Amino acid sequence: MPPRRFMLLEANYRQLLDDPPSVAILPWGATEAHNYHLPHGTDVIEASCLAEGAARLAVDRGAKPIVLPAIPFGNNEQQLDQVATISFTTATAGAILSDVVRSLKTQEIDRLLILNGHGGNEFKPLVRDVQNQSGSLVVVANFFQIRPDALDEIFDDPGDHAGELETSLLLHLCPDLVEMDRAGDGSRVPFTVAGLGQPGVWTPRPWSQSHPDTGCGNPSAATADKGRRYFEASCEALAEVIVGLSAAQRGDLPYV
Ligand SMILES: [Zn+2]
Repeated sequence: MPPRRFMLLEANYRQLLDDPPSVAILPWGATEAHNYHLPHGTDVIEASCLAEGAARLAVDRGAKPIVLPAIPFGNNEQQLDQVATISFTTATAGAILSDVVRSLKTQEIDRLLILNGHGGNEFKPLVRDVQNQSGSLVVVANFFQIRPDALDEIFDDPGDHAGELETSLLLHLCPDLVEMDRAGDGSRVPFTVAGLGQPGVWTPRPWSQSHPDTGCGNPSAATADKGRRYFEASCEALAEVIVGLSAAQRGDLPYV
C-alpha cells in the first residue's frame, strides 16, 4: 500500500508539501491495566484506529487532515500501584499539548482535534489555556461519548473501563490481543464515606480498591460485531468534525 498523505507516520515530505494538511488529529490514550483480558494499550489502540478510520472518511469528503502519532500516556494517578503504569500529571499533559499546538501553528496548521481514548484525561482546562495562548482552534472528542445513541442501541451495559464497549471494540480491531477467558466481572466496590454519591459531588476512585480486577463494567456480553457497529458509527461522527474543521474559515464561530 502506498504511503497515505493523511497519516503522519507514513506521509513523505513531498506529499505534504504538494498537498498540505489543514487540520491535525492527535489521538491521546493511556497505557494501563484493562481488567485481566485486554491489552494495556487499549486506549491507544482505540484512539489511533478511530483517528485513522475517521480521517479516511473525511479525506473521501474533501478534507485535508493529518493524523499525528498517538500520545501513549495519560493521567493514571489513581493507578500507580498497578504494575508498569506510567502517569502524566496535568502539568505534563498541558506542556505537551502546548508544544504540539505551537509547532503546528508555525506551519500554518491552526486547527487541532484531540481524540481522547481515556476517561481519566481531562482536557477542558488545558484547551482553554492553550487556545487563548496560541490562537489555534483546539477541539476535544471523547470517543466513548460521541455516539450516545449508538451506545444505547448496541450495548446492554457499555461499562466505564474494559467493559462491554471496550472489549467489543478490541474484539473488532485486534481480536488476537483479547483473552476473554481471563476476564473478571468488572465489579465496583462502593464508597463507604457517606454523602459522596450525590449529583455534582465527585472525587476520584482509588482504582485498585474500587475495582479489584481493574475493570469497571462486565465484558461478558461483548462481541466483535458490536464493536464494529460502534466503531463505524463513531468514525462517521468524527469524520463530520474533521470535515467541518478542515473547511472552516477565519470568522466562522468559534474559529475567530
Ligand atoms: Zn480504556
